[in-house]
Amino acid sequence: MSNHCTICKTETGSGLLLCNTHLTYLRNAFDEIPWLWQELQTTVTKTDRLNMGVTGRKSTDSPSPINWGASRLAGEVDIVLTRMVATLVAENGLRFMPSRKVPQGFIGPLLDGWERMDRPGYSGSVVQRAVWLRHHASVIAGREDVRDWYFQVINLTGDPDTPKAPPGKLVVEINKRTETWAGPCPTVVGYGRSGEPIECGEILYAYNGAEDAECGECRKADPPRSHIVNVKDNLNRALLAQDILTERHITEVMAGLGQPIYSDLIQRWLRDERLEVQGYLHHDRIVDKRLSARDSRLFSLKQVKQLRRQDRKQRGLAEVASWSGP
Ligand SMILES: [Zn+2]
Ligand SMILES: [Zn+2]
Repeated sequence: MSNHCTICKTETGSGLLLCNTHLTYLRNAFDEIPWLWQELQTTVTKTDRLNMGVTGRKSTDSPSPINWGASRLAGEVDIVLTRMVATLVAENGLRFMPSRKVPQGFIGPLLDGWERMDRPGYSGSVVQRAVWLRHHASVIAGREDVRDWYFQVINLTGDPDTPKAPPGKLVVEINKRTETWAGPCPTVVGYGRSGEPIECGEILYAYNGAEDAECGECRKADPPRSHIVNVKDNLNRALLAQDILTERHITEVMAGLGQPIYSDLIQRWLRDERLEVQGYLHHDRIVDKRLSARDSRLFSLKQVKQLRRQDRKQRGLAEVASWSGP
């Protein structure tokens, strides 16, 4: 008996309603779910720690530890996979059990390494369901309604037939994770002429409120350099070094150092793309995007000092040049 693939209409050469390619896509999608599921759990619980990127909640509410968008999707995935397992058990006579386990009431000797279940009934986790469904993908491919099943799973992970289409729902939700500005990378990459340490300086971000940020530059370096940076320590270091300051603070410090700068000077440096905004101060927290109109911009004192020095040097040269006249 031969059938046609319900997705691409090619002849399958078997009793199945998916061709080899689409059966492989279905298996791959089930394969991806455990990893995506773990990532989604991180997104559910951690995204909100920074009071950013939360859906379903007004910004005036107090911060909640749950990202409701991700949480809803997690519930949806759980329901879809549970329903698939239950349908295969009820209609295709399969058994849903962890590997190397037999039902509690199993009579007879057990094979080596096998155990009886300690409880009657077994629900398992989303990950176990995905692994089990992958194992039985060819049973799914034999079902009349395989097209519905196929797209329910593919919609979660992304459709390999249309790589330019938006990614799957799980991927989209996970990518919504938040970035926190974690300051410049402090890893020492060399020493200057007078022996002063030179730091990598790559601007780092931590995701979903993670405690550590990773420096891609240092990770790629050969020989490898230390590349995991504790966000809190690094921000404290930048603040302690009095390097990352708000615009107002910078002008105060510079005035205190006898090197006054004026805010139109800062505007000009920004316009000329010589000065970089290092982040924003949002409710006493450093974030990488402005989250409210009251957030102040943060600049590097080191960079401001350097620009002022450059400007004075240029002016000095201009003055010298004008003196060289007759
Ligand atoms: Zn096909
Ligand atoms: Zn680095």
